[in-house]
Amino acid sequence: MKILVINAGSSSLKYQLIDMETEKVMAKGLCERIGIDGHLKHSPLVGDKPVFNEDIPLPTHAEAIAAVIEKLTSEEYGVVSSMKEIDAVGHRVVHGGEKFASSVLITDEVMAALEECTPFAPLHNPANITGINACREVMGDVPMVGVFDTAFHQTMPGKAFMYAVPYEYYENDGIRRYGFHGTSHRYVSGRCAELMGKPIEELKIVSCHMGNGSSIAAIDGGKCIDTSMGFTPLVGLPMGTRCGDLDAGVIQFIMNKYGIGIDEMLNILNKKSGVLGVSGVSSDFRDLDNAAAEGNERAQLALDMFHYWVAKVAGSYVAAMNGVDAIVFTAGVGENSKSSRAAIAEYFGYLGVTIDEEANSKRGEDVCISTPDSKVKVFVIPTNEELVIARDTRDIVCKK
Ligand code: ADP
Repeated sequence: MKILVINAGSSSLKYQLIDMETEKVMAKGLCERIGIDGHLKHSPLVGDKPVFNEDIPLPTHAEAIAAVIEKLTSEEYGVVSSMKEIDAVGHRVVHGGEKFASSVLITDEVMAALEECTPFAPLHNPANITGINACREVMGDVPMVGVFDTAFHQTMPGKAFMYAVPYEYYENDGIRRYGFHGTSHRYVSGRCAELMGKPIEELKIVSCHMGNGSSIAAIDGGKCIDTSMGFTPLVGLPMGTRCGDLDAGVIQFIMNKYGIGIDEMLNILNKKSGVLGVSGVSSDFRDLDNAAAEGNERAQLALDMFHYWVAKVAGSYVAAMNGVDAIVFTAGVGENSKSSRAAIAEYFGYLGVTIDEEANSKRGEDVCISTPDSKVKVFVIPTNEELVIARDTRDIVCKK
């Protein structure tokens, strides 16, 4: 069985074709500047076909999907002989609201329900919906599945997901913590249990997804019981460019003092804040590491804040779960920055965590970076959201 995984953004579309017999990626690629001009990078990963990396007109998402199918099946760049070999498509969908606590076969009713979730993610969901519609247009009745970033967090209890505002905002409007990166937290926590050789039902795991956007999840017995992102992905940890947790009074103060509107304010909080805003250097942790090494104090402050917040939120989840067996680092910073991992792990001394420096220097593989006598295991696990999407798609399509 071969499954095409699609992650559609407003002007971009990432894809992977995965062979489910081996779970190997056969080809992957990225369409960019859809609706502007268009660029496609397509990389076949089986056989010795060349990479295609050129500007091509991509006026709509449907044309982007058609270009992807053309490349996947072409003589020169293809990895399958025809579209018939693609058994199903799995779509990443950002927001499933309270309607979707797990992945779902896409039907007309599901599409209508997705539209209803759009107000919760006005930037992301319309792009995901456009991607699904484009795929349905080009691929006809190939079965499709939606996999939601929010779904894994639907097991949170009310005490964790409620905001302490008048209850009717929850009842009438669905105002609550939803959480994001659920597919990633689910993958790495499952993999962590495999690596520990224990059933996930017996484990308490703190999963730290640290990338451009960052979130932490408390996973008790395989179920998410709390997570740091909220109604939107703006809150929790300070991120590349997002502010993380912030007193709402600050928003009012800045808006009044500088006479700016809510749209501009949110743009500042989403795009100009986080470690970029504090350092004035970059949102990229590599740049911050370099600047801090050269003595830039604000870059060091931004890094210190990030590490402190990860430790602080992770610690609160240890309290929430009344213990922890393993802490997992994943995503761009979590997988690649040994200095960030080491700095965060320094805070975990009270848990009896000790880090093996040599293991912490490894890259690109699942690795336990704590010493054998460490009381809590610490892992680096490269995330693989596409594989989760493909597995869910297979499971749902096979049950159909
Ligand atoms: P996204 O949230 O966009 O999916 P990623 O998980 O790909 O982000 O993470 C991207 C971030 O990872 C970059 O902004 C960069 O800060 C960080 N990163 C990548 N490689 C390294 C590295 N070697 N050292 C420190 N940070 C890194």
